[in-house]
Amino acid sequence: MNFHVITLFPEMIESAFSGSITGRAMDKGLITLDTISLRAFSQNSYGSVDDYTYGGGAGMLISCEPVWLAYEEAVSRIEAGADEETPPGNAFREERKTRVIFTTPAGRVFNEKMAEELSKEKDLIILCGHYEGIDQRVTDRIVTDEISIGDYVLTGGELPALVIMDAVSRRIPGVLNNDESKDTESFEEGLLEYPQYTRPCEWKGMKVPDILLSGDHAAVDRWRHHEALKRTGEKRPDLLEKWLEKRGIY
Ligand code: SAM
Repeated sequence: MNFHVITLFPEMIESAFSGSITGRAMDKGLITLDTISLRAFSQNSYGSVDDYTYGGGAGMLISCEPVWLAYEEAVSRIEAGADEETPPGNAFREERKTRVIFTTPAGRVFNEKMAEELSKEKDLIILCGHYEGIDQRVTDRIVTDEISIGDYVLTGGELPALVIMDAVSRRIPGVLNNDESKDTESFEEGLLEYPQYTRPCEWKGMKVPDILLSGDHAAVDRWRHHEALKRTGEKRPDLLEKWLEKRGIY
């Protein structure tokens, strides 16, 4: 997976993404990060990319041209990479169109299913807004997916981009040390994950449930499933309702 992030703050993306698991995945070549600075495409000598909004109102808006030029730069970098793998004229290459994600509170709310779907792409362009957002005309022209990370407003699209990139990366085979772990985590089956414990088996008088020490794997699986159902019912009854409905139980 190659992430191409169009942003006013490339260093914010680079520093956050280069640590821990995503950093190791980059070292292993499983994912790559390419940032495209919007400011490099400023149309004036001040290096600014924003302007007043037509019709008045508070705040500034990122204008079309810098976004368009940054997008063209991202596409040309992707094509340069594709040239190395598949020669021009190759049918597969001609068909491929890179998805362009715009992080916006107006988008579809991000979830694990979307992360899984996006992880199948070879390249993703992620466009980060700032100020009051981006001129509608350029997003109408280039964006394929509008994604929100929740019903609240942040100052910029960099944190949402990082959230999306992190969740997508861990779906890519080899990124997690133990690929199985992502399959048992919250949301995987539409349920929250069961409670987990590590050593010591007793801490401040609180004991690990006996069943987990029994060595009976089938019993442990049953217990975990029961706990996942119980926990989901307590903390996210909306998810449990969907899970039951899907199985015709409700
Ligand atoms: N005027 C916009 C509105 O009311 O929808 C909000 C703009 S916000 C201050 C600036 C940028 O932050 C947005 O263009 C978007 O890229 C990003 N952003 C803020 N909240 C977000 C969220 N919940 N999900 C995804 N992106 C968000």
